[in-house]
Amino acid sequence: GAPSRGEDKPRILLMGLRRSGKSSIQKVVFHKVSPNETLFLESTNKIIKDDISNSSFVQFQIWDIPGQIDFFDQTFDSEYIFGGCGALIFVIDAQDDYMEALSRLQMAVTRAHKINEAIKFEVFIHKVDGLSDDNKIETQRDILQRATDELADAGMDNIRLSFHLTSIYDHSIFEAFSKVVQKLIPQLAVLENLLDIVISNSKIEKAFLFDVVSKIYIATDTSPVDMQCYELCCDMIDVVIDMSCIYGVRDDGAFDNESASFIKLNSSTVLFLREVNRHLALVCILREDGCENRGIIEYNFKCFRNAIQEVFVARNKQAQAHNGLAGGE
Ligand code: GDP
Repeated sequence: GAPSRGEDKPRILLMGLRRSGKSSIQKVVFHKVSPNETLFLESTNKIIKDDISNSSFVQFQIWDIPGQIDFFDQTFDSEYIFGGCGALIFVIDAQDDYMEALSRLQMAVTRAHKINEAIKFEVFIHKVDGLSDDNKIETQRDILQRATDELADAGMDNIRLSFHLTSIYDHSIFEAFSKVVQKLIPQLAVLENLLDIVISNSKIEKAFLFDVVSKIYIATDTSPVDMQCYELCCDMIDVVIDMSCIYGVRDDGAFDNESASFIKLNSSTVLFLREVNRHLALVCILREDGCENRGIIEYNFKCFRNAIQEVFVARNKQAQAHNGLAGGE
């Protein structure tokens, strides 16, 4: 079967009506474009395969669904597209009338579910920066109600949809993407457990395992996530990348296996970043007195990195074995 080609990374499909914000999301999350620059993006109406697989832990494709797309068109290889994907993100423009979008969502979801029951459906209620707080909650409630009612009417209430309020003008889009990606990582529990061990043994308050390019966190320890902490860590990645672009000795990339940084903030908080592998970095927040013993942190980090490497080596072996069985690729 086609669906199992090279499936060792989380595969995500981004769908939605034209102008709902798909290319903007892609540019902001994966290509470091600033939100304001998306105002002048040219609209596209075809499938875009954004191959970020060399730079990111995540793989994904964007797929416009303008009114005229026919899911039953023979040339439209939905078996392949839905079959190989882990999550379908459907973007709805919350600043616009969303009735058309809802009926497209319904079609996409039922079609995709028929082909691949394992697909996770994620609805991004997008551009909520334009809504008041009350209006956000009301819009989410309304969209959730209508979408689930429609599925129930069609006898498909076994399909689960998840909803996220998003905007490219703040960190909500990264946070939402993080949640989506985490659901697709089979080893998530193992990673969380490893992070718990690291923080409790190193007097660290919070630790995130980041996909450096996208600033999606693919795992964190099991203590609750505070948005501010997450934003701090995102900013730290930017600082480190910028610094090594300017002062780095290598010219083939700002991020390598020696990348490490300590930043002391005036709030007696310390940020700590270490490269884990080509795509991933560990970013931690700790109190100043917690880093008296940097040797211990360094030692614990090395153990953590070895464990992570084992987790992903096991994953790649599994994927290879799987592909071998499926068609010897
Ligand atoms: P696409 O056709 O689905 O790829 O949509 P685009 O990415 O081209 O976006 C259409 C318009 O929506 C652009 O002018 C973007 O600047 C704007 N847009 C995208 N995301 C947001 C957002 O989170 N908030 C606001 N206010 N505008 C957005």
